[in-house]
Amino acid sequence: MTEAFVGLGSNLEDPATQLRRACDALAALPDTQLVAVSSVYESQPMGPSDQPPFLNACAQIATTTSPNDLLTALLAIETTMGRVRKRRWGERCIDLDLLLYGDASLESKRLTLPHPGLYQRDFVLKPLAELLGNEYLMPNGVDIVTLLAGCPTHDLKLSSVQLYNGEIPGNPL
Ligand code: ATP
Ligand code: CA
Ligand code: CA
Repeated sequence: MTEAFVGLGSNLEDPATQLRRACDALAALPDTQLVAVSSVYESQPMGPSDQPPFLNACAQIATTTSPNDLLTALLAIETTMGRVRKRRWGERCIDLDLLLYGDASLESKRLTLPHPGLYQRDFVLKPLAELLGNEYLMPNGVDIVTLLAGCPTHDLKLSSVQLYNGEIPGNPL
């Protein structure tokens, strides 16, 4: 089993519901367990500013699926949930980014690991820090708190939205 982390984002069609549905879909993936889900944060959009704020969260999974097949599965969940790509960093009902896959470091046409935006995005690092700890050293050797201090701000706010009440669906642990 490899430990992997997925960044979730949504700013359309009831984002809280979208994040819940996406977590359920992660939990239902074959050969994969949903281990933990962070709190939910509200953030201002990174791309065009004429779009609603985002809800962001981070999920920890354990999987035997390869990185490439996992990316395929994440993109399939986005499609099933009705994601339509309109403009770069624009509005979307769901975005699932593969942030980390064990200690894998790779760069191919369709998949880069760690995710290329990981070290610069407060709305990804903050929920990830809940799961890995502030002092966790990223694959580039820098801890999460230090990376967060260097990020441009997206006016992150802890949201009152609860994805689960401490219970992860389909997790026998
Ligand atoms: P960003 O990647 O900057 O967060 P985005 O999430 O809006 O922007 P998408 O349109 O969702 O971008 O994805 C574009 C492509 O990025 C995907 O089709 C996928 O092939 C590629 N990609 C490369 N590395 C990753 C990764 N680690 N996780 C998810 N997608 C990735
Ligand atoms: Ca993204
Ligand atoms: Ca994406």
